[in-house]
Amino acid sequence: MSTAITKDIVCPECGQTQKLELYTSINAKENPELRRDILRESVFDWECRHCGYTAQMAYPTIYHDPELGFMVCLRPSGAVSKPETIPAVKELIKRSVKNPQELKEKILIFEAGLDDAAIELVKNAIVTVIRKSFDGNVHAYFCKAEEDELKFAIFIKGRQEPIYQKTQMAVYRQSQEVLRTLDYKDPDDFAVVNSKLAQRLLDQYKSV
Ligand SMILES: [Zn+2]
Repeated sequence: MSTAITKDIVCPECGQTQKLELYTSINAKENPELRRDILRESVFDWECRHCGYTAQMAYPTIYHDPELGFMVCLRPSGAVSKPETIPAVKELIKRSVKNPQELKEKILIFEAGLDDAAIELVKNAIVTVIRKSFDGNVHAYFCKAEEDELKFAIFIKGRQEPIYQKTQMAVYRQSQEVLRTLDYKDPDDFAVVNSKLAQRLLDQYKSV
C-alpha cells in the first residue's frame, strides 16, 4: 500500500506554514495517479497557497510496482528523512536512485520490460559519441522503446531543452551480450545501476 505522512512546510518566500502530504511509499497499482505524476515530473511539485511560490520538494520514497515486480528507492542527496523500511523481498528488482528524473527513468525501463544495466551500456555508447561534439556534461535518459528502436533524451550542460536520439535495438542486444560475457548478475539489494556501473562493466569487458 501507499503510505503518506503530513508535514508542516514553511514557505521560503512568505514564511507562512502549510501542510504537505509526503508519500513515504508509493504503490503503482493502488495509486496510479501518483505513478502518472512521477512520469509527468510533477509529483514533487509544491505550491504555496498563500503567495503562489513553487518549488520542487524531492523527498525519500519507495516506489513499488507489485505487478511488474520492481521497487525503486529514491534517496535525494541532502534529504534528512529516510524512506520507509521494506522487509526483505527477494524476487523483486530493487534499485536506488538519487533524483525524481532517475526514478521516472527506472519506471519507464522496467515498464518496457528492459534490463536497466543493458540500457546503461547503451547510454554509455550514445554519450561517448555526443561528448566528442559537446564539451562538458552530457546525460542521457531512457524515454521509450518503439518498434525496433530505443529513444533517449540527451541533456547537454548549458542547454535548456534535451535533444532526442534513437538507437537501434541491436545495440541493446549487444549490450545484453556484454553482460552475459561478464556473467553479470542482477544485484540483490537496492543497487545503484547508473553510468558509473556501466563504465566499470565496460572496463572489465575490455580486459576480458
Ligand atoms: Zn508563500
